[in-house]
Amino acid sequence: MNIADRFPAERGRMEYVCLGCGARQPIEALHYTCPKCGAVLLLEDLDFARLQKQGAEHWRTLFDARCASRNTALRGIFRFYELMAPVLDEQDIVYLGEGNTPIIEASPEFARAAGCSFAFKNDGQNPSASFKDRGMACAFSYLKAQARKQGWDEVLAICASTGDTSAAAALYAAYVGAPLKSVVLLPHGKVTPAQLSQPLGSGATVLELPGVFDDCMKVVELLADKYRVALLNSKNSWRILGQESYAFEVAQWYGWNLSGKCVFVPIGNAGNVTAIMSGFIKLQRLGIITNLPRIFGVQSHHADPVYRYYSADASARRYEPVTVQSSVAQAAMIGNPVSFPRVERLAAEYIGIGGEGAFQVVQVTEQQIMDAMIRANRYGHIACTQGGECFAGLLRARQLGLMDTNEHAVLDATAHSLKFVGFQDMYFNNAFPAEYGITPDYSLMNTPELLLDVEQKKRLSEAEYTEAGAEAVARRLNLQKK
Ligand SMILES: *Cc1c(COP(=O)(O)O)cnc(C)c1O
Ligand SMILES: [Zn+2]
Repeated sequence: MNIADRFPAERGRMEYVCLGCGARQPIEALHYTCPKCGAVLLLEDLDFARLQKQGAEHWRTLFDARCASRNTALRGIFRFYELMAPVLDEQDIVYLGEGNTPIIEASPEFARAAGCSFAFKNDGQNPSASFKDRGMACAFSYLKAQARKQGWDEVLAICASTGDTSAAAALYAAYVGAPLKSVVLLPHGKVTPAQLSQPLGSGATVLELPGVFDDCMKVVELLADKYRVALLNSKNSWRILGQESYAFEVAQWYGWNLSGKCVFVPIGNAGNVTAIMSGFIKLQRLGIITNLPRIFGVQSHHADPVYRYYSADASARRYEPVTVQSSVAQAAMIGNPVSFPRVERLAAEYIGIGGEGAFQVVQVTEQQIMDAMIRANRYGHIACTQGGECFAGLLRARQLGLMDTNEHAVLDATAHSLKFVGFQDMYFNNAFPAEYGITPDYSLMNTPELLLDVEQKKRLSEAEYTEAGAEAVARRLNLQKK
């Protein structure tokens, strides 16, 4: 069998590690927080050093070969099996087409208009149309393995969500089927119609509570403490592992050379930015890449606890949750990110290797986010509001002089634009509620134009109507006769 198709025989030894007290737990039980001190966990491969023996070239060649793998288990994020969850068996791996999302360079015209070269990585081209699928593919593979090995008869997979986590969880649960069942808890009226339709369509139990995401998060955490449920929020460290694949793919796409690259990531619960830093650090440790790319976290001024923390002097930093205000970057509208301790840990490690400036957070306004999203999409991208937030973050970083002219930015378009069309509609119709503080740029607005009226449709014969329609279009476009 081709090396790219062969499922690896070698396994790692993984453990949960507490970021608070350092306690370690075996992975056979579901842990979201440390049973000793309650802090968040990360997963660690105790045998990571074994990977160093084979040398960087071995891994680069193997991962490149697996791009053409015909083994379903190795086609998606598990192309990087050895770096992610090398404790899973082939039969447990769930693959729904996640990962391997395209990096689309901004056209020369757009790059000129923006004043710099950059690309979007379209994570909205994942199966449920957001990056959350990366983490779910890993978390559900782990759950499936545990259910099989331990003979569980029912597993209630539950999550609170700003929209995309629940869409992804419900999709993967629907595919895996029994004994897994999906329950999602949403802040009423705070997810887009597309995002609400996703768990409904996948057959999940959809429960709503008034309030914002942070309220729902507290409820599911209490549930996970008291009842037998599998928590699928980003406290779940298996999700963080799966999301590391984003970093591996960026590195692979640029030929394992990331010097001069800046990676922009929107921060909500801070799971994704943590995973991406962790992923790059692993590659650097193995020598698969030599330079870490610089990471820029981006937050809206309406939900910016991580920005506030890092904008203070290192000696005066104090973490404080914020009360969020309405944000178009709804998937990142989180005032008390559960992964904040992970960010702190990994940012320190990242800066330790990459130097000052290797990790930074910039803040953008709601206005800048919307203008940036609309502009990007007008140049052929499919950025959601969070993708717009990244582009706004790039412009802000350049304005602040944080980037060199020869640096190249990779922006995380975390979801598909179609999930957030409601915000585009508000922009095009100048209909934003006052609390967003957004006024459309008239040059970017676009609305459909009705050319004929219903009466004409009734009155005219079919042929006359076609002719009247063609004439109306020709008049509107000022077309010249042949
Ligand atoms: C979840 C989400 C985010 C925020 O990611 P975190 O891991 O919570 O920081 C950003 N954009 C989209 C589209 C999301 O679904
Ligand atoms: Zn602990």
